[in-house]
Amino acid sequence: MRWTLGRRSQNVEDRRGMGSPRGMRIPGGFRIPGGTGRGRVARGGGIGGIGLIILLVAAWFLGLDASFLLQGGGPVEAPYTDSQPSAPRSAEEDQLAEFVSVVLADTEDTWRPLFDQMGEQYQDPTLVLFTGEVNSACGFAQAAMGPFYCPADQKVYIDLGFYDDMRNHFGASGDFGQAYVIAHEVGHHVQNLLGIAEQVQRVRQQVGEVESNELSVRMELQADCFSGVWANHADRARNILEEGDVEEGLNAASAIGDDRMQRQAQGYVVPESFTHGSSEQRVRWFRQGLESGQLGACDTFSAERL
Ligand SMILES: [Zn+2]
Repeated sequence: MRWTLGRRSQNVEDRRGMGSPRGMRIPGGFRIPGGTGRGRVARGGGIGGIGLIILLVAAWFLGLDASFLLQGGGPVEAPYTDSQPSAPRSAEEDQLAEFVSVVLADTEDTWRPLFDQMGEQYQDPTLVLFTGEVNSACGFAQAAMGPFYCPADQKVYIDLGFYDDMRNHFGASGDFGQAYVIAHEVGHHVQNLLGIAEQVQRVRQQVGEVESNELSVRMELQADCFSGVWANHADRARNILEEGDVEEGLNAASAIGDDRMQRQAQGYVVPESFTHGSSEQRVRWFRQGLESGQLGACDTFSAERL
Protein backbone atom coordinates (compact mmCIF):
# COMPACT_ATOMS: atom_id res chain seq x y z
CA MET A 1 0.00 0.00 0.00
CA ARG A 2 1.33 3.45 -0.88
CA TRP A 3 0.89 5.41 2.30
CA THR A 4 4.08 7.12 3.44
CA LEU A 5 3.26 10.43 1.74
CA GLY A 6 -0.31 10.38 2.96
CA ARG A 7 -1.77 12.98 5.27
CA ARG A 8 -1.61 12.22 9.01
CA SER A 9 -4.86 12.52 10.92
CA GLN A 10 -5.28 15.07 13.68
CA ASN A 11 -7.69 12.74 15.43
CA VAL A 12 -5.35 10.22 16.99
CA GLU A 13 -5.26 10.04 20.76
CA ASP A 14 -2.14 8.28 21.95
CA ARG A 15 -2.73 6.56 25.26
CA ARG A 16 -0.07 3.92 24.83
CA GLY A 17 1.76 3.05 28.00
CA MET A 18 -0.99 4.35 30.22
CA GLY A 19 -2.56 1.01 31.09
CA SER A 20 -0.94 -2.23 32.15
CA PRO A 21 1.32 -3.95 29.64
CA ARG A 22 -0.58 -6.13 27.25
CA GLY A 23 -0.49 -9.82 27.75
CA MET A 24 -0.03 -9.46 31.48
CA ARG A 25 -3.57 -10.27 32.38
CA ILE A 26 -5.97 -13.00 31.57
CA PRO A 27 -9.20 -11.41 30.45
CA GLY A 28 -11.61 -11.98 33.26
CA GLY A 29 -14.80 -10.71 31.70
CA PHE A 30 -15.66 -7.05 31.58
CA ARG A 31 -18.42 -4.87 32.76
CA ILE A 32 -21.12 -3.60 30.49
CA PRO A 33 -22.71 -0.51 32.02
CA GLY A 34 -26.32 -1.37 32.69
CA GLY A 35 -25.89 -4.58 30.79
CA THR A 36 -26.08 -8.24 31.57
CA GLY A 37 -22.43 -9.13 31.51
CA ARG A 38 -22.73 -11.22 28.38
CA GLY A 39 -19.04 -10.99 27.62
CA ARG A 40 -17.80 -14.44 26.81
CA VAL A 41 -14.19 -14.27 27.72
CA ALA A 42 -12.34 -17.03 29.38
CA ARG A 43 -11.98 -16.74 33.09
CA GLY A 44 -8.76 -17.06 35.03
CA GLY A 45 -6.54 -19.95 35.56
CA GLY A 46 -4.08 -21.98 33.65
CA ILE A 47 -4.10 -20.38 30.23
CA GLY A 48 -0.85 -19.08 28.89
CA GLY A 49 1.47 -18.80 25.94
CA ILE A 50 0.06 -19.50 22.53
CA GLY A 51 -3.32 -20.45 23.93
CA LEU A 52 -3.67 -17.07 25.53
CA ILE A 53 -2.63 -15.21 22.42
CA ILE A 54 -5.06 -17.12 20.25
CA LEU A 55 -7.73 -16.46 22.81
CA LEU A 56 -6.92 -12.77 22.78
CA VAL A 57 -7.26 -12.43 19.04
CA ALA A 58 -10.17 -14.82 18.83
CA ALA A 59 -12.05 -12.77 21.39
CA TRP A 60 -12.39 -9.97 18.88
CA PHE A 61 -14.39 -12.20 16.61
CA LEU A 62 -16.10 -14.65 18.88
CA GLY A 63 -19.16 -13.13 20.38
CA LEU A 64 -17.19 -10.25 21.68
CA ASP A 65 -18.27 -7.67 19.26
CA ALA A 66 -17.30 -4.73 21.32
CA SER A 67 -19.29 -2.32 19.22
CA PHE A 68 -22.41 -3.96 20.54
CA LEU A 69 -21.37 -5.41 23.83
CA LEU A 70 -20.07 -2.12 24.98
CA GLN A 71 -23.06 0.04 24.56
CA GLY A 72 -24.47 2.88 26.45
CA GLY A 73 -22.54 5.58 28.12
CA GLY A 74 -23.00 4.99 31.80
CA PRO A 75 -20.43 5.93 34.37
CA VAL A 76 -17.28 4.00 33.94
CA GLU A 77 -15.29 2.57 36.76
CA ALA A 78 -11.65 1.67 36.96
CA PRO A 79 -10.19 4.66 35.13
CA TYR A 80 -6.92 4.06 33.40
CA THR A 81 -3.95 5.03 35.47
CA ASP A 82 -2.24 8.21 34.58
CA SER A 83 1.25 6.85 34.78
CA GLN A 84 4.00 7.81 32.36
CA PRO A 85 4.78 5.52 29.48
CA SER A 86 6.99 2.82 30.95
CA ALA A 87 8.71 1.02 28.10
CA PRO A 88 10.41 2.75 25.19
CA ARG A 89 8.68 2.04 21.93
CA SER A 90 10.34 0.47 18.98
CA ALA A 91 10.79 2.29 15.69
CA GLU A 92 8.60 -0.38 14.15
CA GLU A 93 5.75 0.37 16.49
CA ASP A 94 6.07 4.09 15.91
CA GLN A 95 5.88 3.49 12.20
CA LEU A 96 2.79 1.41 12.72
CA ALA A 97 1.22 4.25 14.70
CA GLU A 98 1.99 6.59 11.84
CA PHE A 99 0.51 4.12 9.40
CA VAL A 100 -2.83 3.91 11.21
CA SER A 101 -2.88 7.70 11.42
CA VAL A 102 -2.57 7.88 7.63
CA VAL A 103 -5.28 5.26 7.17
CA LEU A 104 -7.57 7.17 9.50
CA ALA A 105 -6.91 10.41 7.59
CA ASP A 106 -7.70 8.60 4.37
CA THR A 107 -11.03 7.38 5.74
CA GLU A 108 -11.82 10.98 6.73
CA ASP A 109 -11.01 12.23 3.24
CA THR A 110 -13.10 9.47 1.74
CA TRP A 111 -16.20 9.56 3.91
CA ARG A 112 -16.58 13.33 4.10
CA PRO A 113 -17.43 13.78 0.41
CA LEU A 114 -19.55 10.62 0.41
CA PHE A 115 -21.61 12.05 3.26
CA ASP A 116 -21.80 15.41 1.47
CA GLN A 117 -23.32 13.65 -1.51
CA MET A 118 -26.00 12.20 0.75
CA GLY A 119 -26.70 15.60 2.27
CA GLU A 120 -25.27 14.44 5.58
CA GLN A 121 -22.36 15.73 7.55
CA TYR A 122 -19.49 13.43 8.38
CA GLN A 123 -18.00 13.79 11.82
CA ASP A 124 -14.49 12.50 12.19
CA PRO A 125 -14.09 9.72 14.72
CA THR A 126 -11.11 9.69 17.08
CA LEU A 127 -8.68 6.81 17.04
CA VAL A 128 -7.28 5.85 20.42
CA LEU A 129 -4.02 3.93 20.61
CA PHE A 130 -3.67 2.03 23.85
CA THR A 131 -1.61 -0.68 25.45
CA GLY A 132 -3.13 -3.51 27.41
CA GLU A 133 -6.31 -1.92 28.65
CA VAL A 134 -8.31 1.22 28.18
CA ASN A 135 -11.22 3.13 29.53
CA SER A 136 -13.87 4.09 26.98
CA ALA A 137 -17.28 5.72 27.26
CA CYS A 138 -18.59 2.22 26.61
CA GLY A 139 -16.77 0.67 29.52
CA PHE A 140 -13.44 -0.69 30.50
CA ALA A 141 -11.81 -2.77 27.78
CA GLN A 142 -8.78 -4.97 27.42
CA ALA A 143 -6.59 -5.59 24.41
CA ALA A 144 -8.06 -9.10 24.52
CA MET A 145 -11.15 -7.75 22.85
CA GLY A 146 -9.24 -6.56 19.84
CA PRO A 147 -9.94 -3.27 18.10
CA PHE A 148 -13.41 -1.90 18.68
CA TYR A 149 -15.58 1.12 18.06
CA CYS A 150 -17.49 2.80 20.85
CA PRO A 151 -20.59 4.63 19.57
CA ALA A 152 -20.98 6.59 22.81
CA ASP A 153 -17.73 8.51 22.38
CA GLN A 154 -17.32 7.93 18.61
CA LYS A 155 -13.86 6.54 19.08
CA VAL A 156 -12.03 3.60 17.56
CA TYR A 157 -9.75 1.80 20.01
CA ILE A 158 -6.78 -0.31 19.00
CA ASP A 159 -3.81 -1.90 20.73
CA LEU A 160 -1.27 -2.19 17.92
CA GLY A 161 -0.15 -5.54 19.34
CA PHE A 162 -3.26 -6.90 17.65
CA TYR A 163 -1.41 -6.76 14.34
CA ASP A 164 1.33 -9.06 15.65
CA ASP A 165 -1.25 -11.58 16.69
CA MET A 166 -3.05 -11.29 13.39
CA ARG A 167 0.16 -11.99 11.51
CA ASN A 168 1.65 -14.63 13.79
CA HIS A 169 -1.41 -16.68 14.54
CA PHE A 170 -3.84 -16.07 11.75
CA GLY A 171 -1.50 -15.65 8.83
CA ALA A 172 -2.95 -12.25 7.98
CA SER A 173 -0.03 -10.02 7.14
CA GLY A 174 0.57 -6.99 4.99
CA ASP A 175 -0.23 -3.34 5.43
CA PHE A 176 -3.45 -3.37 3.49
CA GLY A 177 -4.82 -6.12 5.74
CA GLN A 178 -3.96 -3.84 8.65
CA ALA A 179 -5.69 -0.92 6.98
CA TYR A 180 -8.79 -3.05 6.47
CA VAL A 181 -9.07 -3.51 10.24
CA ILE A 182 -9.14 0.27 10.80
CA ALA A 183 -11.49 0.82 7.87
CA HIS A 184 -13.85 -1.84 9.28
CA GLU A 185 -14.04 -0.05 12.63
CA VAL A 186 -14.61 3.25 10.84
CA GLY A 187 -17.37 1.39 8.99
CA HIS A 188 -19.06 0.97 12.37
CA HIS A 189 -18.71 4.70 12.90
CA VAL A 190 -20.43 5.31 9.57
CA GLN A 191 -23.24 2.98 10.70
CA ASN A 192 -23.49 5.00 13.88
CA LEU A 193 -23.68 8.35 12.08
CA LEU A 194 -26.30 7.04 9.66
CA GLY A 195 -28.46 5.76 12.51
CA ILE A 196 -28.14 2.14 11.39
CA ALA A 197 -26.41 1.05 14.58
CA GLU A 198 -29.14 2.45 16.78
CA GLN A 199 -31.95 0.83 14.81
CA VAL A 200 -30.24 -2.53 14.84
CA GLN A 201 -29.50 -2.26 18.51
CA ARG A 202 -33.13 -1.55 19.26
CA VAL A 203 -34.30 -4.61 17.35
CA ARG A 204 -31.62 -6.80 18.87
CA GLN A 205 -32.94 -6.08 22.32
CA GLN A 206 -36.33 -7.43 21.36
CA VAL A 207 -35.36 -10.68 19.69
CA GLY A 208 -33.88 -13.98 20.76
CA GLU A 209 -30.23 -14.85 20.71
CA VAL A 210 -30.15 -16.52 17.30
CA GLU A 211 -31.81 -13.58 15.57
CA SER A 212 -29.71 -11.19 17.53
CA ASN A 213 -26.56 -12.93 16.35
CA GLU A 214 -27.81 -12.84 12.78
CA LEU A 215 -28.33 -9.11 13.01
CA SER A 216 -24.84 -8.80 14.36
CA VAL A 217 -23.51 -10.72 11.37
CA ARG A 218 -25.37 -8.40 8.97
CA MET A 219 -23.98 -5.42 10.83
CA GLU A 220 -20.43 -6.76 10.65
CA LEU A 221 -20.65 -7.69 6.99
CA GLN A 222 -21.89 -4.19 6.24
CA ALA A 223 -18.86 -2.76 8.04
CA ASP A 224 -16.71 -5.03 5.85
CA CYS A 225 -18.50 -3.73 2.78
CA PHE A 226 -18.01 -0.11 3.92
CA SER A 227 -14.36 -0.91 4.37
CA GLY A 228 -14.31 -1.99 0.73
CA VAL A 229 -16.10 1.21 -0.30
CA TRP A 230 -13.35 3.16 1.42
CA ALA A 231 -10.64 1.22 -0.43
CA ASN A 232 -12.39 1.82 -3.76
CA HIS A 233 -12.57 5.60 -3.33
CA ALA A 234 -9.17 5.96 -1.68
CA ASP A 235 -7.57 4.11 -4.54
CA ARG A 236 -9.34 6.13 -7.20
CA ALA A 237 -8.47 9.42 -5.48
CA ARG A 238 -5.01 8.65 -4.18
CA ASN A 239 -3.87 5.52 -5.95
CA ILE A 240 -3.03 3.71 -2.73
CA LEU A 241 -3.30 0.10 -3.85
CA GLU A 242 -0.24 -1.83 -4.90
CA GLU A 243 0.08 -5.25 -6.44
CA GLY A 244 -1.14 -7.84 -3.95
CA ASP A 245 -2.97 -5.41 -1.68
CA VAL A 246 -6.45 -6.56 -2.57
CA GLU A 247 -5.39 -10.14 -1.83
CA GLU A 248 -4.04 -9.00 1.53
CA GLY A 249 -7.35 -7.39 2.40
CA LEU A 250 -9.29 -10.42 1.27
CA ASN A 251 -6.94 -12.68 3.16
CA ALA A 252 -7.41 -10.64 6.34
CA ALA A 253 -11.18 -10.74 5.91
CA SER A 254 -11.00 -14.47 5.38
CA ALA A 255 -8.60 -15.13 8.26
CA ILE A 256 -10.95 -13.53 10.71
CA GLY A 257 -14.22 -15.12 9.66
CA ASP A 258 -16.14 -16.65 12.54
CA ASP A 259 -15.86 -20.18 11.17
CA ARG A 260 -12.11 -20.09 10.92
CA MET A 261 -11.76 -18.37 14.26
CA GLN A 262 -14.03 -20.86 15.97
CA ARG A 263 -12.26 -23.85 14.49
CA GLN A 264 -8.98 -22.46 15.66
CA ALA A 265 -10.19 -21.59 19.13
CA GLN A 266 -12.51 -24.47 19.95
CA GLY A 267 -12.03 -27.01 17.17
CA TYR A 268 -15.56 -26.90 15.79
CA VAL A 269 -17.96 -24.43 14.21
CA VAL A 270 -21.36 -23.30 15.47
CA PRO A 271 -22.93 -21.18 12.72
CA GLU A 272 -25.80 -19.89 14.90
CA SER A 273 -23.31 -18.33 17.24
CA PHE A 274 -21.60 -16.34 14.49
CA THR A 275 -21.53 -12.67 15.20
CA HIS A 276 -19.27 -11.54 12.35
CA GLY A 277 -19.94 -13.90 9.48
CA SER A 278 -17.96 -16.70 7.88
CA SER A 279 -14.72 -16.15 6.04
CA GLU A 280 -16.47 -16.50 2.71
CA GLN A 281 -19.14 -13.97 3.68
CA ARG A 282 -16.62 -11.44 4.91
CA VAL A 283 -14.62 -11.75 1.72
CA ARG A 284 -17.74 -11.44 -0.42
CA TRP A 285 -18.96 -8.25 1.25
CA PHE A 286 -15.58 -6.63 1.38
CA ARG A 287 -15.23 -7.32 -2.33
CA GLN A 288 -18.72 -6.01 -2.99
CA GLY A 289 -17.80 -2.66 -1.48
CA LEU A 290 -14.41 -2.62 -3.11
CA GLU A 291 -15.69 -3.29 -6.60
CA SER A 292 -18.79 -1.10 -6.51
CA GLY A 293 -17.62 1.81 -4.37
CA GLN A 294 -21.30 2.32 -3.54
CA LEU A 295 -22.89 2.46 -0.11
CA GLY A 296 -26.07 1.20 -1.69
CA ALA A 297 -24.30 -2.03 -2.57
CA CYS A 298 -23.82 -2.67 1.15
CA ASP A 299 -27.40 -3.34 2.16
CA THR A 300 -26.69 -6.51 4.06
CA PHE A 301 -29.99 -6.17 5.91
CA SER A 302 -32.21 -6.88 2.94
CA ALA A 303 -29.82 -9.25 1.21
CA GLU A 304 -31.32 -12.73 1.03
CA ARG A 305 -27.96 -14.35 0.62
CA LEU A 306 -25.22 -13.10 2.87
ZN1 LIG B 1 -16.92 -5.16 13.63
